Amino acid sequence: MKKYNFNAGPSILPAEVIKQTADAVIDFQGEGLSILEISHRAKYFQPVVDEAEALMKELLNIPEGYRVIFVGGGASMQFCMVPFNCLEHKAAYLNTGVWSKKAIKEAKAFGEVVEVATSAADNFTHIPMDFEVPQDADYLHITTNNTIYGTEISDEKLQAIYAKKGNVPLIADMSSDILARPIDVSQYDIIYGGAQKNLAPAGVTFVIVKEAFLGKVSRHIPTMLDYRTHVENGSMFNTPPVLPIYTAMLTLRWLKANGGLEAALERNMAKADLLYKAIDESKIFEGTAKKEDRSMMNICFVLKPEYAHLQDDFFKFATAKGMVGIKGHRLVGGFRASTYNAMTLEGVQALVDCMKEYEQSLNL
Ligand SMILES: *Cc1c(COP(=O)(O)O)cnc(C)c1O
Repeated sequence: MKKYNFNAGPSILPAEVIKQTADAVIDFQGEGLSILEISHRAKYFQPVVDEAEALMKELLNIPEGYRVIFVGGGASMQFCMVPFNCLEHKAAYLNTGVWSKKAIKEAKAFGEVVEVATSAADNFTHIPMDFEVPQDADYLHITTNNTIYGTEISDEKLQAIYAKKGNVPLIADMSSDILARPIDVSQYDIIYGGAQKNLAPAGVTFVIVKEAFLGKVSRHIPTMLDYRTHVENGSMFNTPPVLPIYTAMLTLRWLKANGGLEAALERNMAKADLLYKAIDESKIFEGTAKKEDRSMMNICFVLKPEYAHLQDDFFKFATAKGMVGIKGHRLVGGFRASTYNAMTLEGVQALVDCMKEYEQSLNL
C-alpha cells in the first residue's frame, strides 16, 4: 500500500532526495567511499557546504552581508543562542505558541523580556497583531509558522510586523515554513530553524545571519555558542552534521529544479486550499485555526463536538488507507496533516478522498 507521510517533523522529503542520499551512503560521488566515512575536511565535502549556502542564498534571494551557517543543536539550541549573542538589555517576543514560549523561557536568563502579545487565552488559534514594539529592544522575535497549532503569519501580517518593528532588529524561528514561500530576508537580522521539517533529516540547524548584527553584546560567549565562530569557519569549526547537510543541499537543488520558491508557494497554496476546502465543506470536520491565520504547512482539524466520539475510528480508517502521522498534537487534539514542500497534491487528494469516504460511510 502506498503510504502518505503527513508527519510534522521529522517529515517527508522528496523521494528523489532520499534516493540520492541513499546512493551517497553507499558510494559518495563515485569515490568508492560512503559519505558516512569521509572526512569533513576532505576535498569532497567543502563543495557540499558551499553549494548548500549558495543555494540558500539564491532561492531565498538573500542580500549581501548575510551568511548561512549550518550548526547542531536544533532550533531549540537557537532559543538560547539568540539571546546569548544578541540580548544585552531587553528583547521583545511575540508569543504564538509552544515554540515561542520555549524561546521566551531561554531569553529570560539573559535580560528583560517583553511579551508584546499572545493568543494563549485562545489556545493560540490566531496570530495577535494588536501590539507595539518597544523601540529600545535589542530585537523582536517571531515564530512565522506555529507547527503545533497550525497557524502561520500571513504575508500581509508579516508586512505589518515589518512596519511595526521600526528600527528594532527582527529575528525569526522559521523551522516549519522556511523555503515554503518567498520571504524578504532583508527585513531580518537572523532567521533560524531545525532542518527536519522542510529541508533535511534531523541533525542540522540552519541560521541565516546578518554579519553586521553580530558582536554587539558585552558578555563572554562560549566558543561553540558564538555565531561568529561558525561564520568565520564556514560551518566547519568542528565536525558538522555531514549527512543532513548533504541532504539539505540535495533538497535545495530539487527546489531550484522545480521552479524555486514562487513555484513552491503555488504548489503549497494548491495543496492547502484543497484540504481546507474539504474541511470547510465537511459535515463532521472543522478547522481549529482562525481562517486568516491558517498555516499552509500544518493543517489542523478536529471532529465537530457531536462527532468527537469518532476520533479513534477515523484515525484507524485513515491509517488503513495509508495516511501516516495525522494525529494532532496533544495540545490541540484531533488531526494535523503536515503538507511540507515534498508532499504532493496527489497525497493531499488521497487524504481528502479518505475523509469524504469516511463521512459518506456514516450515512448522515
Ligand atoms: C520543530 C520546531 C522547533 C524545535 O526544533 P528542534 O530542531 O527539534 O529543536 C522549534 N520551532 C518550531 C517552529 C518548530 O516547528
